[in-house]
Amino acid sequence: MLRLSELSLPLDHAPGALRDAIVTRLKISDADLLDFHIFKRSYDARKKNSVILFVYTIDLNLRDEAAVLQRCGDDRHLGPAPDTRYRFVAQAPAPLPQRPIVVGFGPCGLFAALLLAQMGLRPIVLERGQSVRQRTQDTWALWRKRILTAESNVQFGEGGAGLFSDGKLYSQIKDPHFYGRKVMQEFVNAGAPLEILYVNKPHIGTFRLTTVVAALREDIIALGGEVRFASKMTRLVLEGDQVEGVMLESGETLASRHVVLALGHSARDTFRALHEQGVFIEPKPFALGFRIEHPQTQIDRARLGNYAGNPALGAADYKLTHQCSNGRAVYSFCMCPGGTVVAATSEAGRVVTNGMSQYSRNERNANAGIVVGIDPVRDFPGDVLAGMALQERLEAHAYVLGGSDYSAPGQLVGDFLKDRASTRLGEVQPSYQPGVKLTNLASALPDYAIAAIREALPQFGRQIHAFDRWDAVLTGVETRTSSPIRITRDADTLQSRNIRGLYPAGEGAGYAGGILSAGVDGIRVAQAIAMDLVGTSGRNQQQGDTLGDVEV
Ligand SMILES: Cc1cc2nc3c(=O)[nH]c(=O)nc-3n(C[C@H](O)[C@H](O)[C@H](O)COP(=O)(O)OP(=O)(O)OC[C@H]3O[C@@H](n4cnc5c(N)ncnc54)[C@H](O)[C@@H]3O)c2cc1C
Repeated sequence: MLRLSELSLPLDHAPGALRDAIVTRLKISDADLLDFHIFKRSYDARKKNSVILFVYTIDLNLRDEAAVLQRCGDDRHLGPAPDTRYRFVAQAPAPLPQRPIVVGFGPCGLFAALLLAQMGLRPIVLERGQSVRQRTQDTWALWRKRILTAESNVQFGEGGAGLFSDGKLYSQIKDPHFYGRKVMQEFVNAGAPLEILYVNKPHIGTFRLTTVVAALREDIIALGGEVRFASKMTRLVLEGDQVEGVMLESGETLASRHVVLALGHSARDTFRALHEQGVFIEPKPFALGFRIEHPQTQIDRARLGNYAGNPALGAADYKLTHQCSNGRAVYSFCMCPGGTVVAATSEAGRVVTNGMSQYSRNERNANAGIVVGIDPVRDFPGDVLAGMALQERLEAHAYVLGGSDYSAPGQLVGDFLKDRASTRLGEVQPSYQPGVKLTNLASALPDYAIAAIREALPQFGRQIHAFDRWDAVLTGVETRTSSPIRITRDADTLQSRNIRGLYPAGEGAGYAGGILSAGVDGIRVAQAIAMDLVGTSGRNQQQGDTLGDVEV
């Protein structure tokens, strides 16, 4: 199979035009092109006011590859296609008495469990929250009626933190073995649109994600796995430095010498329990800030020029960064085109913002976190859980600023820059439910963070016209950007630095920062466990621990 890249076609090209373009470019007859599929499709918006084209990368089979390669030898955009197929590292010959336990059923736990099940290892999944159906009702109760269910909400339950999200499925991780493609292929098999396999920045939106996650759960069960909801792990069972099982809130104990901790970034009670039990944990950088909302049409105009509103391109996104004079980095985080700002707390008496979209991305506003980097070495040296305590304090203060009824405190950008409370909205209507209380956000974050965001917003206004418009709305606080801790693991075995058989994974452990990277990390720990339990068969794909905490 060959790969041909940099094939440009108009946005409105006919379906057959791609085949014609390949044949013309390679100077072959139509019969010589046996079959092809799109590996990637992106667009180049640099000439947004004259022409935007789709740019394709195509994988193709030819009648005579060698002849074409020889003839097009100087075409640097043509060459052999890498083999992206997934190969299992091991397969259990028969059901083993030892069953691995996966704690947490977000994307990391889901893919760890799916891979373990596919390798015949019959995992037991423990999830503190509820199944997608019940969880959807519980989450909407906060958004509509201000009723929070502590164990079933935006952060906790089947599908994890990204279930009610934009469902962006891209990341900046190094992925030399194409595990990300395995994640995407499983999503497609479970009902996600085929295009996520090739569009440059795929997303599936909240509604579709819920059905995909439920279908993957059924796959795990059909393969001999078990998924238990409302099952919170409270402690590890340890014998010396070996994990022997887990204890549940119900008092039940489950034995296993292979436990995946895929807890997400909001499992503060569990982090504290693990710390008390002596599991090695380090503080790690994270970010704090606000959500900002603009009309989506403004972002489309700035990013797509004359092509704003073109249905082939959809709602435009952005990514912004600014290095401040006080040494802080400010950047946009988890941008949601055509979406809404959501109430994302998992704890009573706290307010947290985040964003989500449906697949159509056709809501009125664009939203994104505007966040400031927090560095534990600089900001709270020596205290492992101080980052988490800071998040808790700010979320509790935001609750009070918002009127103590789960409304989010909000402020117009013009007022924020002038340090005066907002009293009325302009053209931009905030989307956060159950409501926004206008106030002054100056006390909502540490002073250095407020100063950094005040410096960054006008700079962002130079990158996206009127980004700092006076009536853009800020709501807060955006504290759950990534985990404030790392549950450190060995780079080769992927086991905890001081507890054997314990596999910290995903975002909560500091090894992922988004749905895709969490899924990829789940695959990696599943492989490590399979090799430990069964030994390798076939190609050993396990590689050193190169993943970091990469945010979308
Ligand atoms: C509103 C929102 C929108 C987002 N949008 C996107 C997006 O568009 N694209 C993207 O890539 N990322 C997005 N993210 C981030 C993404 O959701 C996370 O990076 C990802 O879900 C992390 O996966 P994870 O499996 O490591 O952890 P999580 O998804 O957080 O899953 C952890 C699971 O563990 C469970 N758990 C915790 N403690 C215990 C315990 N003691 N016992 C049993 N179970 C436990 C939790 O209930 C949870 O279900 C969004 C996040 C939010 C909140």
